[in-house]
Amino acid sequence: MNRIVIIGAGESGTGAALLAKAKGYDVFLSENHNIRESFKAEMQAADIHFEEGVHSLDKILNADLVIKSPGVPDKEEVIQQIKKKGIEIIDEIEFGFRFLKGKVIAITGTNGKTTTTLLTYHLLKDAGLDVALAGNVGESLARKLVTRDYDWYVIEVSSYQLDGTTTFKPDIAVLLNITPDHLDRYDYKFELYIDSKFKLLANMGPTDQFIYYKEDPVLGKEMSTRKVSSMLNTVSLKGDNVSQAYFDGVEMNFRIGRTSFSLKQEETTLNGPHNLINTMAAVSAACFVGLEVQVIKNGLKTFKNAPHRLESVAKINNVEFVNDSKATNVDSVMYALGSYSNSLIWIAGGVDKGNDYDLIREQVKEKVKALICLGVDNKKLKDYFSEIVPTILETQSVKELVRMALKNAEEGDVVLLSPACASFDLFKNYIDRGDQFKEAVLELKVETETIAS
Ligand code: ADP
Repeated sequence: MNRIVIIGAGESGTGAALLAKAKGYDVFLSENHNIRESFKAEMQAADIHFEEGVHSLDKILNADLVIKSPGVPDKEEVIQQIKKKGIEIIDEIEFGFRFLKGKVIAITGTNGKTTTTLLTYHLLKDAGLDVALAGNVGESLARKLVTRDYDWYVIEVSSYQLDGTTTFKPDIAVLLNITPDHLDRYDYKFELYIDSKFKLLANMGPTDQFIYYKEDPVLGKEMSTRKVSSMLNTVSLKGDNVSQAYFDGVEMNFRIGRTSFSLKQEETTLNGPHNLINTMAAVSAACFVGLEVQVIKNGLKTFKNAPHRLESVAKINNVEFVNDSKATNVDSVMYALGSYSNSLIWIAGGVDKGNDYDLIREQVKEKVKALICLGVDNKKLKDYFSEIVPTILETQSVKELVRMALKNAEEGDVVLLSPACASFDLFKNYIDRGDQFKEAVLELKVETETIAS
């Protein structure tokens, strides 16, 4: 095997190209959109041939192996042609895996992947281990492997990436939950999305550890019918004391191998019930790695989560503004609402991916005193919540939004941006939405304090 063709030039495509080149292959990368300047510069420096704005089949169909970026769907013409020729197509994560010798912790789920991955990485790093963070968060696995191997890899994997794996085998795997998402990539068949998530376990054996959230309805059902060869470890929020990690209403309790200990959420930097699940999963993984309890506890105190996930931005007149822009589905909002006992001004809206608001109806009724819709088309939100929420407002301006929120809030309330929707109608992405929100909140804070002084 000599010629490797890479389709798509995001972080994973570029990483795969760099690794393939470093391993001595004849590499060609093809991207039918524009390639980011920094990626182009890296490829030029490594003497990698590439094209942009086009897929030239004559340069692609002579490949021995194709590495497909996770963002490229199977239905693309170029992928169909490659398949027709019988050329093997894999994901960058599979390619990277074929070169590593270290141990792998792989984390997936519909929600909570990034938080759990970052926390697990932080615990191992803080303990002084030689560990790389890779996958869907930060740098691609392939890029990490260009210069050297690590003892440990903590990898966030998405279902798209798992679709392109064949030999990928984590030593420790975490599956947090499965709720309907991204169904457009799976012929609108939920079963296919579930199968994709379970590819995580396909090659794991009896000495590998699988950690999953027991009370997730889909996981519960699937685990009763699927054959899984690895060791099983469950995380429970409902005090199920046969689980290796369970929350009893007061503390998280761990019984992993011969190690047993408890810890309170206040001893960590994360809050909300969803983060109990994420913390228990990450701590369980850290225990399997062999970290000492005290080392884990120290790490939990210094962890700083990525932005846009229940991120406290500022307090203005004793009203807390929280940025949860990453909550782009109803399931995430359910956990966000569950994280507060305060009265809430809830900001939601954007591009609805088929939301079923019944899931949060009761919580909204109990806690939300005003809903501010931030989207182009807010009809569905307004129709659903008009009988439940006393005040419903709408705007497309973030500056106006934060003012409206403050005006409708009283001391002790929380203003929560947790949109349940994608952001593409008004923003570039969820990061842009969260950043604009934070900026507007901080501006309003300065303005309010200037007036007050
Ligand atoms: P992902 O990387 O899977 O998108 P993140 O850690 O970035 O997950 O969190 C995304 C959103 O999902 C956050 O806004 C948070 O409110 C919600 N969330 C986090 N963990 C969980 C969980 N275990 N279950 C359900 N929702 C969660």
